[in-house]
Amino acid sequence: MRGRCHCGNISYELQTELAEPPLRACQCSFCRMHAARSISDPAGRLVFDVEDESLLSRYRFGLATADFLVCRRCGAYAGAFMDGYGIANARLLETALLREPSPVSYDGETAEQRIARRRERWTPGEIRIRAPRATSGS
Ligand SMILES: [Zn+2]
Repeated sequence: MRGRCHCGNISYELQTELAEPPLRACQCSFCRMHAARSISDPAGRLVFDVEDESLLSRYRFGLATADFLVCRRCGAYAGAFMDGYGIANARLLETALLREPSPVSYDGETAEQRIARRRERWTPGEIRIRAPRATSGS
């Protein structure tokens, strides 16, 4: 399954054998603002490809245990990534998933519980950067 942000700077590929990966509607304020629909497959693989890193925002909030990948150019929320595990925002899929999502709320989790849940449910993968952000000095 392939998705990309509106301008194309961030794209992802979710490799999964599941015909219908669970579609979750996280009820946190960030996901509600983006009307995000999360998909993952712990047995699959998720790779984000970023063309220009300077246009990638790795937004952190709350317990700050994951990076929420937002395109600085078009504003799309592509998915989140933590320590080798990620979820994708199904809103970016070329073919929209029209199924009703399951509402989920993770309020009240400790940072430890949150990380453990993600390691269990998120998809192993990586973020590949085509054009790294230029660093000053050497
Ligand atoms: Zn974009």
